[in-house]
Amino acid sequence: MMIGSCRLSQRGKKVRIPATMTSTLRMKRKLLCLGPWMAIAAAAQSYHPLPAEVSCGHSGRSRIYASCAELACGSDSSAVQVGVDVLAFVLQTDPQRSVAAPQEGFSLEPPPTREPYDKFAPVWRTPPMPVAGPIVVQSQAPGGTKLSIRLSAPLLSGPRYRRLDASTLEISLPGARWLPNEFEAPKAGYVEEVRAEQGGSELRLIFRLSRPMGVQMGESPGEVHLSLIKPAVGDGRLASKIVVVDAGHGGSDPGARSPDGSVREKDLTLSIATLISDRLTTEGATVILTRKSDVRIALKERSEIANRNGADFFLSVHINSSQVPGKSTGGITFYHAQDPIGRLLADCIQAEIAKVSKLPNMGTWSDTRIYDSGFAVLRYATMPAVLIEMGFINHAGDRARMLTKDFQTAVASAIVKGLRVYLGDAKPQE
Ligand SMILES: [Zn+2]
Repeated sequence: MMIGSCRLSQRGKKVRIPATMTSTLRMKRKLLCLGPWMAIAAAAQSYHPLPAEVSCGHSGRSRIYASCAELACGSDSSAVQVGVDVLAFVLQTDPQRSVAAPQEGFSLEPPPTREPYDKFAPVWRTPPMPVAGPIVVQSQAPGGTKLSIRLSAPLLSGPRYRRLDASTLEISLPGARWLPNEFEAPKAGYVEEVRAEQGGSELRLIFRLSRPMGVQMGESPGEVHLSLIKPAVGDGRLASKIVVVDAGHGGSDPGARSPDGSVREKDLTLSIATLISDRLTTEGATVILTRKSDVRIALKERSEIANRNGADFFLSVHINSSQVPGKSTGGITFYHAQDPIGRLLADCIQAEIAKVSKLPNMGTWSDTRIYDSGFAVLRYATMPAVLIEMGFINHAGDRARMLTKDFQTAVASAIVKGLRVYLGDAKPQE
């Protein structure tokens, strides 16, 4: 449930309706849950199904099909009613807005002609909810597996994925459903098993893979493309790899500081980076530290060290700081832009850190969430690269925990374990 404002547009006319949204969309008397951020109730009385567009919060623009002679917005479905056909509507949520009571008696001018509706009507008589399946293997090769998930209609919004563990993908298809009898789960290439779960209005396909794989996804008419990309791991052993470990900041650049100034990011990062280096050396990897002492090194030079030495991995260690002290807590691992291999490495490492850090797991983020161009150290690195923000230096709990030897040695081991999982040299549960 979310508070928002609803903007109706009809043939270019836009009208704002402050509204308390429910979290459901009623279409053709069916209830379709669209997620916690938005809602609109649209009940059909005279039946003129029409395409409409909804843009909602973080999920971007998605398409829905409203067949509405009556459009109702409100915590109950009778608060605001538009007693005419609505050609299209745009819904925008605004979390900053305070609760506004739905306005009553709101109406839009009727559309100039009904002809387009009559043209549409036969097309949309069948429910427009996309049915997914079958899943077709397009190609399989040592470098990866390409699959196509067939769709009978467009998704409500773009397909997404997350990793349940390093080798298990959960692919979400918003608005889709599947017909059990028609669902074919391929076992081919790197795919060992696929199962489907219906989660509200969202179809979730769980792919169990034979090893951690990078993922690229896209939607085109009638299908979702899924590319599973095998990372280049050589012999799959950490012992043969070159790893550059970058202790963030240094010298005249202290990085973030605790509110009293006594704890500095540059000291914590050097301490943790050194422990990571020790653990990697024990595993037989070749390690290059961008700095071993309290010196300043330019951002570009840090990734250049990795590039020059033909490193297999670049790991940059940082400590976060929030604008409001004490407000944020937890660890994040960043990858560059939409790099599927960088995200895979980040997922593998962050999952292991979360098991031992005893701090909240904020997950893995694209660095473009912070800067449009991402982080320089990740942008310039030519090998799989991640930047790990261990916790928040201006959060008392995070700071106290990060200063312990237990935390520093545990996360150093977890990062090494994450690298081994990525390489296929260890299973997450080992
Ligand atoms: Zn930093």
